[in-house]
Amino acid sequence: MIEDKEIYNSIQSEARRQKEGLELIASENYVSSDVLEALGSILTNKYSEGMVNKRYYGGNQFIDEIETTAVNRAKQIFGVDHVNVQPYSGSPANLAVYFALLNPGDKVMGLNLYFGGHLTHGWKVNITGKYFNSVQYETGRDGLLDYDMLEKQVKEEKPKLLFCGATAYPRLYDYKRLVEIAHSVDAYFVADIAHECGLIAAKVIPSPVGFADVITTTTHKTLRGPRGGMIMCNGNPSEPLRPLVEGADPRRNLPTLIDRAVFPGLQGGPHNNTTAAIAVALGEAMKPEFVEYANQILKNAKKLSEKLMEYDFNLISGGTDNHLMLVDLANKNITGKQAEETLEKVGITVNKNTIPFDERKPWDPSGIRIGTPALTTRGMKEKEMEIVAQFIDRALKNPSDDNLEKIRLEVKEFTKDFPIPGIDNI
Ligand SMILES: *Cc1c(COP(=O)(O)O)cnc(C)c1O
Repeated sequence: MIEDKEIYNSIQSEARRQKEGLELIASENYVSSDVLEALGSILTNKYSEGMVNKRYYGGNQFIDEIETTAVNRAKQIFGVDHVNVQPYSGSPANLAVYFALLNPGDKVMGLNLYFGGHLTHGWKVNITGKYFNSVQYETGRDGLLDYDMLEKQVKEEKPKLLFCGATAYPRLYDYKRLVEIAHSVDAYFVADIAHECGLIAAKVIPSPVGFADVITTTTHKTLRGPRGGMIMCNGNPSEPLRPLVEGADPRRNLPTLIDRAVFPGLQGGPHNNTTAAIAVALGEAMKPEFVEYANQILKNAKKLSEKLMEYDFNLISGGTDNHLMLVDLANKNITGKQAEETLEKVGITVNKNTIPFDERKPWDPSGIRIGTPALTTRGMKEKEMEIVAQFIDRALKNPSDDNLEKIRLEVKEFTKDFPIPGIDNI
């Protein structure tokens, strides 16, 4: 028990909130007790600037073992020959890729935030939109990526780097088409799989490996590890390129460019406790149970989306192929912010989200985003998704204090059978 009462009490309150509520934020999950234990370990005491066997401080023999295990597991799972597990999170991982491959002012293309893209793909208030010449692409009216339109835009703009990946795109990517488009203008093609990483690890949706020049990801979303990031690429495994080969095809130098961008380009010492927790999460992701988990995420998302559509919720693109759905609330006469606040009162956590061609602003947009990874970790299946859809519909239909209080108690009761690792005893 933490002696500091102020922080202890807040942690207990947060644990209770997590336990008694339904977590539907698509980017969140619950890590295992083993991941928690590695994350809370004494590894945080150690400085390890540099790479395995090339550290700037002594005493790193065990840290090297841990980082090597993390890297090797990631290589095996994703089928890549180079992985850097040091990025502090998804955003620094992306920034390291910019630093590795571009000069300030170079042109980069990414999906517009309103259409599901991430801030770090060139949104104007982000460093990637200020220090680089960012051009954004959009989806079609139907919410789906329009590859013909994208190809035309890429050929006109001739970016040096094309990002794909999103925080709120409910469908799959045609990676083959995307790399053809990027390479037609000699641009790097970077796939940011922050959201889908666990689904790709479990091979329940297609992987960009073999198509993307570089793959970036977080480790804390569907992969169910600690908050962290990874960068993966295929260099030329038979010729480990260190130092850089001057004049070589830059794609062969990718591993070195990326490692140098992470350190000393962008970061100092890696968070070794996080590295160990990533290794543990990757170990878990190699087990058959994880494939089952990933499949169940998809089944739950399908079921929840079908039920919501039965309740006349309007799903962008008409459904989902992955772990999340995006709901346009215009026909319900409420905004995303209102829906988020109403659902919060019954213990259901979702996030307000812009929808394609949204006429409202990101702080009060027209939609909400809903995902199933966290509830699936708690052991919920299709049957429970039907009940969750019902809670959502009932709350938004009648947001009177009495009704919301009634539903809140039902939600709390409902969650009792679905434990969260590490918070069983509250
Ligand atoms: C979540 C996410 C990130 C950023 O991850 P952080 O860990 O929050 O920095 C980057 N790209 C995409 C597509 C994401 O969904």
